[in-house]
Amino acid sequence: MISYLGRVAGDAWAVCKGLWVTLKTLVKPSITVQYPTEKLTPEPMFRGVLLYDVERCTACGLCVKACPSACISVQAQVNEAGKRVPKAAWYAIDLGRCNWCRMCEESCPFKPKVVWHSVDYELCFFSREEMVRCWKPGFPLLGKVHDVRKDAFVDPPAQIVIQEVPARHDEKGPRWD
Ligand code: SF4
Ligand code: SF4
Repeated sequence: MISYLGRVAGDAWAVCKGLWVTLKTLVKPSITVQYPTEKLTPEPMFRGVLLYDVERCTACGLCVKACPSACISVQAQVNEAGKRVPKAAWYAIDLGRCNWCRMCEESCPFKPKVVWHSVDYELCFFSREEMVRCWKPGFPLLGKVHDVRKDAFVDPPAQIVIQEVPARHDEKGPRWD
């Protein structure tokens, strides 16, 4: 009889402990983010989608040499005499081969960087072609993709932009804090 009552008391205590945990959790503020209607902004050093500013690029090729995945291509503009000028005619990154190492950003000699990681993590693709992001004069920082069916450059269809220009990429250059 005593052992039976002891078991009942032990079970009742276990139930009370469980209810106490439930009660504490019930009054705590929720930390769940209702994605995609609510979005978190990652830390500034997060390596998100690569952005690029074709208007400031000199087509020096340092980022091409630094890229360990050989996924960057750049073509310089030429003048009427056929001589190379320090401006980019086009620039492309194959995001399907990119390993998000940031070597391109670090090798770029300019401040702010001409190519840099944003904090945008909403990167998805509908096709292999979409993984190759291209920039030409007049294109946005996010770049465009070549639609082979239309034979035209279009906005990346699968990407939802969180933040095109992260706060660390201001006139003082990138911040490393
Ligand atoms: S992040 Fe690394 S792999 Fe990707 S383009 Fe830049 S250098 Fe290449
Ligand atoms: S992005 Fe920077 S490193 Fe790359 S070609 Fe342009 S200026 Fe040179």
